[in-house]
Amino acid sequence: MGSEPDPSTGSVIPPIYATTTYAQDGVGGLRTGLGVGYEYSRSGNPTRTALEKALAAVESAGDQPTRALSFASGLAAEDALIRTLTRPGDHVVLPGDAYGGTYRLFARVSEPWGVEHTTAPTDDLDAVARAIVPGRTRFVWVETPSNPLLGISDIAAVGALARSAGALLVVDNTFASPYLQNPLELGADVVVHSTTKYIGGHSDVVGGALVVRTADAAGSVADPHTGEPLVDRLSWHQNAMGAVSGPFDAWLTLRGLKTLAVRMERHSSSAERIAAHLAEHPAVSQVLYPGLVGHPGHDVAAAQMRRFGGMISFRLERGRDAALKTCASTSVFTLAESLGGIESLIEHPADMTHGSVAGTALEVPDDLVRLSVGLEDVDDLLADLDDALAAATA
Ligand code: PLP
Repeated sequence: MGSEPDPSTGSVIPPIYATTTYAQDGVGGLRTGLGVGYEYSRSGNPTRTALEKALAAVESAGDQPTRALSFASGLAAEDALIRTLTRPGDHVVLPGDAYGGTYRLFARVSEPWGVEHTTAPTDDLDAVARAIVPGRTRFVWVETPSNPLLGISDIAAVGALARSAGALLVVDNTFASPYLQNPLELGADVVVHSTTKYIGGHSDVVGGALVVRTADAAGSVADPHTGEPLVDRLSWHQNAMGAVSGPFDAWLTLRGLKTLAVRMERHSSSAERIAAHLAEHPAVSQVLYPGLVGHPGHDVAAAQMRRFGGMISFRLERGRDAALKTCASTSVFTLAESLGGIESLIEHPADMTHGSVAGTALEVPDDLVRLSVGLEDVDDLLADLDDALAAATA
């Protein structure tokens, strides 16, 4: 489902349609051999369509149809969503823990254009309720598990709260991926992905996606300003704003998506072992991994996720210097930003991925190290971490 052989040649893999434009049979006479007509590759391209269909199929909303739109990056997808849903004077609720670039987009780009925000811990329903401004809050944004603190929010509960206040629920599902969690099934209205991460899966292509329920008992998810189906407004903005994925990027992302399930199983198995190991390590003061029974969001994560994923953060007993030295001392884990690829990565969020939120409500502790657990032999990964922690605390 979501991927069919090319109808004209039988090619089992969709071709890379490296073309900007499409010959027309007379003015407006678009050729519909692939089912729909194409006129210009910003508006539509068959390789991008193949990816969008596959993403819509895996990011399920149960028995309701979904539609996916593919963008040049996760932030381009977020930008299209924000500019579709908000106008000057509107308000949004943001999580107190999220990818730094997401917060920067709201605080430094949307806010000067008149869109206000309040941050709230989205694992605390009372705090979310207090942050909502009746009549002005257009959506509540949730990232679960969150980057980099691995916080867990109850998607169904926050969704019900948002709905009761006339707001939508947007869930950034990048850390879980559609294999581990399907927020639209739990009542979210829109899912955001940085496909750069687990969906692409090979650290070779930047991309983003929006997935939206196109119908429910009350009809499609509606644009709060125009009342039109949100998917139509998003699709219109995707073309009008233009930050689409190119055909080669769409093709690479689609190739990655096909192995998502097997990769996520292995990422999760290895991360579970590494988290348990770190939790016993004397140099580590705290391990943040929702698969650990002591994690405050463990029960919610167990209920809404298939497994707990491949991301782990941990804090060092001896503080910032030990964290920096750990990051500099691994040899199997590569010191680099990003996550979700086949190779293991290590980073220091305070100075790297989350440097842009220093001094804000989203500032992260400087003794924190984040791991993206890859597909290598888990014993090699454990030995590498032991060596690095020994070097960092010698
Ligand atoms: N959402 C999350 C959770 C992320 O980790 C990132 C990037 O790290 C993004 C969104 C932004 O995606 P991109 O880097 O593809 O623009």
